[in-house]
Amino acid sequence: MQQLVPTRHLFGPGPCNPYPEATAALGLPLLGHLDPEFIARMDRTCDGLRTLWGTANARTLPLSATGSAGMEAAFVNTITPGDVAIIAVNGLFGERMCEVASRVGAEVVRVDHEYGTPVDAERVAAAHPNPKVIAAVHAETSTGVLSDMAALGAIKDDALLIADAVTSIGGMPVLADEWGIDIGYAGTQKCIGVAPGLAPFTISDRAFEQRVQKPQSWYLDLGLLGGYTTGGSGGQRTYHHTAPVGMVASLEAGIDRILAEGLDAVTERHRAAGTALQEGLQEMGLELFAAEGHRLPQLTTVKVPDGVDSAAVRKYLLERYTIEIGGGVGQYASTVWRIGLMGPNANQDSVALILAALKDAIAVNS
Ligand code: PLP
Repeated sequence: MQQLVPTRHLFGPGPCNPYPEATAALGLPLLGHLDPEFIARMDRTCDGLRTLWGTANARTLPLSATGSAGMEAAFVNTITPGDVAIIAVNGLFGERMCEVASRVGAEVVRVDHEYGTPVDAERVAAAHPNPKVIAAVHAETSTGVLSDMAALGAIKDDALLIADAVTSIGGMPVLADEWGIDIGYAGTQKCIGVAPGLAPFTISDRAFEQRVQKPQSWYLDLGLLGGYTTGGSGGQRTYHHTAPVGMVASLEAGIDRILAEGLDAVTERHRAAGTALQEGLQEMGLELFAAEGHRLPQLTTVKVPDGVDSAAVRKYLLERYTIEIGGGVGQYASTVWRIGLMGPNANQDSVALILAALKDAIAVNS
């Protein structure tokens, strides 16, 4: 028998605490993955994802793997060796895109930005005259920065625009069709408020028609996955892999929860909580890391004050308050904290709890 662990307040960069509805769905009796009831639920889930993605794309589905597999699927289905991929890098996940794209043989044209600043669409446009794809992270979890995907859509020309919406979807507007996003991938564990394990994914008809015909990955071949959710060309659902039925049920419940509240209301709840946290941190004399005007409400980056042991503060928060916050990434590992207010955690009670606990933790550990 496993020992009970104390409930955590997951205020790190992810996962967040799931919505209770999503957790409850994980405990429901399992359906077979070809049961008509499950198939109907998968259809509903894909419909809900279309709403979250702001798209009419027929090919919108939860890939059976985490957000990084969404990234892999995006590149493996679009790139053949030698194709040019312009990748805007302003944090860890842009870096990861470069690694993934180069492994499928892309000629990667990196457009580096200072960490903490947003992607500059003009610099991206000037980087290469004829790219096959342009890729960027909408909400950089490693730095707490929001970038303007619509601006990239406006300059993409014939290129396919790949957007990482792992940290944005479900917490702020993502308007794939309006912004010109051809391929988007996300995760379940951030603002959608479900446990990690699925990668909500969408691809436009235009991108699908240009896809690599026999990509290196069988599992992530979007041509084969068509029949998995959409019923394929004959309308007949085909076996591709055993769907993670429990996770899909949980995702369905999480999406239902978000849509019942309303996307605008959910966005406003994240905005209000993030703003209050950022104001409260500044009132405590702390300095925010991300550039003003480009800060994510759902993921706040704050500089560790001089003389304070970052790791000791995080350990204290966990042991004294069962609160998890994140450290920084790469060269900022010990000089930045990352505080997430995502999904059900995006509320004023969480803000008050974090501010009080952090104040105590800093006082004790400086
Ligand atoms: N992209 C972004 C912006 C992320 O924040 C993450 C995870 O935190 C990923 C990609 C990778 O997702 P996963 O860890 O679910 O594979």
